[in-house]
This record gives sequence, C-alpha cells and structure tokens, in this order.
Amino acid sequence: MGRRTRRRWVFKPPKNLYFVGTQPQMENCIILTLAEFEAMRLKHYNNLNQERAADSMGISQPTFSRILDISHQKITQALIEGKIIRVHGGNIDYKVSFIGYGCWNCDHTWEDVSASRGKKVKCVKCNSENVYYFEREII
Ligand SMILES: [Zn+2]
Repeated sequence: MGRRTRRRWVFKPPKNLYFVGTQPQMENCIILTLAEFEAMRLKHYNNLNQERAADSMGISQPTFSRILDISHQKITQALIEGKIIRVHGGNIDYKVSFIGYGCWNCDHTWEDVSASRGKKVKCVKCNSENVYYFEREII
C-alpha cells in the first residue's frame, strides 16, 4: 500500500474554480505583459533555468527574476480576487521572421511571404509607390 499524502491546510478556498473570462470587462482584468507571460512560459512551461530563460529574452538575470516576480504577483492576485487574466502590451519584439514591405509615405508595414527586393509594389493602404522591402530574421 502506498504512502498516504499528508493533508495540506488551505485557509481560504478560491473565489473561482474556473479561470475563464466570460465577462471581459476591464475592471475585472489583470494585465499580464507579453514579457511577463514569456518569462512564465520559459521558466515554468519550458522548464528553462533562469540563465537560459534570461538569455532567450535578451535581458539580464536580475531583470528576468524581477519580471518573473511581477508575473507571479499578478497571477496570484487574479487567482485570489477571481479576476480575468489578459495578456497585453509591453516592450517586446517577436522572435519571428518577417518579410514584407513598408511605406515611406504612410508608415504602414505589411507582410508578404513572396516579397523580394526588386519587386515593384504599391502600398496596400495609401497606394503610394514609395515603398521599401524589409525583412526581419529570427534573432
Ligand atoms: Zn502607404
């Protein structure tokens, strides 16, 4: 017979047992920045150590640790207060490649998987011909 798990004390049951947003009103939301989300994902979902996770995000370990602490506080607050977690905003850059064009006239950028440097295209927004090719590689 297996060893029985010792009973754990819980002082206060959670307000919510289901953590889904049915009424996404701003006052019910905890905003988790994309960097905070990413820190949680790398550390607790991908199980990276702090050094590798910080490297992956291009930040120092103390900064990574601070971001992770903030995300823990926010998630805890959402769980305790029964709030909706909204992932939104923050000073981030996606690590995805992008090929497309930008417009000198209206600053619009758009992705085009068949884009190339020599191709003549017009801005999809303002129809200007003053367009540049640009690509962003995975870092
Ligand atoms: Zn334009």
